[in-house]
Amino acid sequence: MIILLTGGTGYIGSHTAIELIKLGHDVEIMDNLFNSKIEVLDKIEKIAGEKPKFHKIDLLDKDGMDKMFAEGKYDLVIHFAGLKAVGESVEKPLKYYENNVGGTINLLECTKKYDVKKIVFSSSATVYGDQGVAELTEEMQTGVGITNPYGETKHMIEEILKDVAEADPEFEITILRYFNPVGSHPSGLIGEDPNGIPNNLMPIIMKVSTGEIEKLRIFGDDYDTVDGTGVRDYIHVVDLAKGHVAAIKKMKQGVSIYNLGTGRGASVLEMVAAFEKASGKKLPYEVVGRRAGDLAEIYANPSKAERELGWKAELTIDDAMNDTINYLKHLKNE
Ligand code: NAD
Ligand code: UDP
Repeated sequence: MIILLTGGTGYIGSHTAIELIKLGHDVEIMDNLFNSKIEVLDKIEKIAGEKPKFHKIDLLDKDGMDKMFAEGKYDLVIHFAGLKAVGESVEKPLKYYENNVGGTINLLECTKKYDVKKIVFSSSATVYGDQGVAELTEEMQTGVGITNPYGETKHMIEEILKDVAEADPEFEITILRYFNPVGSHPSGLIGEDPNGIPNNLMPIIMKVSTGEIEKLRIFGDDYDTVDGTGVRDYIHVVDLAKGHVAAIKKMKQGVSIYNLGTGRGASVLEMVAAFEKASGKKLPYEVVGRRAGDLAEIYANPSKAERELGWKAELTIDDAMNDTINYLKHLKNE
């Protein structure tokens, strides 16, 4: 298949590109390079043996998008592109709604006009809001109790996709709700390398280990969890990438929704311990107050993806930590 990855030079998109190329798909990437680097393309080539055709286009550039679709012969689009910094989305909500929701509408107009009716969308566990339980299943009601505009954009886009599929039954749409992606490619060549100050736990741990950030601030140790710190479902990015490969093999008309997670939670302190074990170094941290909007504990029930897609996460947190340390060494030598 000829597959267009929006946001494909980013963290999850680049790992997915590798898995798709390895299977013989023809991968093209469009990205405005706001949060990724062009060099990723050479690294994809080094790992997978082929360099994806690249379009430096913004989702908001309607003419550029139209031209790309007019020239491309895409069978399927995987839509990764979007802004994802939760804190920034609270400060700049309009930027997030415009980029993520507005950008997706532009994309969907092109897919409709050029008859590309297979779409996979990168959603997030954030759409579940606060369910009052830790284990999340796809049929739960979404959109209630979302605490930031980033999460709202993911929920809105899910609703838009449902309406699009309702209006045109030829659409085959798969929504993948990611839990917490971590780790890097085992080659050490690609990984998460965000521009600016990160918000998420793993990239912060990485920057603490390199000394760019003095210490990790743990947001609360008084939750009702195994050790009082927040619990999340950390999934290795290579497992996540393989989840996309499994999903595109089973596309069907209408909208299908899958959690991509491991089904197991890990606390912040367990993540710190795993990083320390892999690096052999202490990670400086201090416990501070809770972060507004944080939930104590959430993890995926991933059984629908296993049942219907034949996919399940196979790599461990230790694998993710070892691969991250390998990637950090690579970054240092660049
Ligand atoms: P990323 O920032 O590494 O990749 C996203 C890419 O989209 C970047 O390369 C960025 O330059 C590009 N982009 C953003 N706005 C664009 C625009 N207007 N036009 C063109 N390109 C644009 O992020 P990621 O971690 O790879 O996430 C990929 C997708 O998965 C995002 O939609 C994100 O919201 C979603 N997601 C990520 C996580 C996570 O923790 N990483 C969790 C759940 C969902
Ligand atoms: N966390 C933390 N310090 C940080 C960043 C995150 O203690 O600097 C905690 C956070 O409270 C949560 C977990 O790490 O319990 C994962 O946070 P992240 O922002 O990565 O993911 P999300 O909360 O969006 O699932």
